[in-house]
Amino acid sequence: MSADIPRPYLEWDAIFRDCVECAARVGELCVNPISGVSKRLPCVARTKPEETEQ
Ligand SMILES: [Zn+2]
Repeated sequence: MSADIPRPYLEWDAIFRDCVECAARVGELCVNPISGVSKRLPCVARTKPEETEQ
């Protein structure tokens, strides 16, 4: 895995999840949809565990 992953992605395990907000995949950084620049912080939705319905 890249060493360039910002710490916030690791703290929330966000890097190990797909992002439902910007469509970033596992191992990829979230991207600002307007500027196209990788974000230092993951999208909010990505910082939360997936909610699974039972
Ligand atoms: Zn995202």
